[in-house]
Amino acid sequence: MEFRIIYTDEFLKHNKDGHPENKYRLKSIVNYLKEKDLFKNVIQPIKASEEHILLAHKKELINIVRRFSERELNIDLDTYTNKHSYDVALLAAGSLIKAVDIINECDFIFCLVRPPGHHATKDQSMGFCLFNNVAIGAKYARRKGYKKIAIIDIDVHHGNGTQDIFYNEDVLFISLHSSRLYPGTGFIEEIGEDDGKGFNINIPLPPGTDDNNYLYAFNEIVLNILNEYRPEIVFISAGYDTHQNDPLGNFYLTNYSYYNIFKEMSKYKVIAALEGGYNLDAIALGVYSSIKGVLKEEVTFEKRLKSLDVKQSTRNVVNDLKNILRDYWSF
Ligand SMILES: [Zn+2]
Repeated sequence: MEFRIIYTDEFLKHNKDGHPENKYRLKSIVNYLKEKDLFKNVIQPIKASEEHILLAHKKELINIVRRFSERELNIDLDTYTNKHSYDVALLAAGSLIKAVDIINECDFIFCLVRPPGHHATKDQSMGFCLFNNVAIGAKYARRKGYKKIAIIDIDVHHGNGTQDIFYNEDVLFISLHSSRLYPGTGFIEEIGEDDGKGFNINIPLPPGTDDNNYLYAFNEIVLNILNEYRPEIVFISAGYDTHQNDPLGNFYLTNYSYYNIFKEMSKYKVIAALEGGYNLDAIALGVYSSIKGVLKEEVTFEKRLKSLDVKQSTRNVVNDLKNILRDYWSF
């Protein structure tokens, strides 16, 4: 199992102290990986070109990000910029370009990037996200000739931006998220349109979802569909705000879930990119456990605050979704 990390200290320059999406997140991850001797095979990103960004976004959005960044203005209440943000966002998107360019040489790449991307739609930066890094990478992979691409979004918030960008296209997008959090989208009925019909899959889970309930839904929907689809590349929008100690999330996952999700994904070529996750210890342990999962090496699992049987409400979401998707996938 060959793995690479894509990272540069430049990512720390987009920062606002006191904001949950700050540079200390990446510092915590990098320090922990170094301590565990996993911060190796580190590759520098390239800077995405305007042409790369235009694969997923409208020209006006690029102009807005550049101009707001020059003036260090907030794009919305949550989404800040400083004078470095535009260049840093190009490097974050460029990490995914680089990853696609080298995925033939290895099995697994983790892009440790900031700012995150999955809320950025074709024409709007939002929810701490400037450009949609994963979507740009997936579009680029498509352009390079990869036909079967899957994007699995495990952030606790719905990947509305990625959904928006691929809604009419046969790129498989599956988002598992809390049904009661920002941005309020991501219902099971949103299954895509035109060529994208059946390729947009939302798994909205109830607040309080723990490892057992999450992995039940993950196995029933994600693993079955991936088995059938056999993607050439799986992108993972890797948010760790599903963790039981996350200050913004309302799930109760531990590193047991991250380990197992990534272990299951290791049969595919995987490009993961950091999205959310705001508890500095949890996010470091989360990334570490994800890499260990792919490597199938042992880790110690955390003590769980919640361990519930699979609840009826979780089964209902899974069953309703299977019914909706039965015309497109065999369950
Ligand atoms: Zn999130």
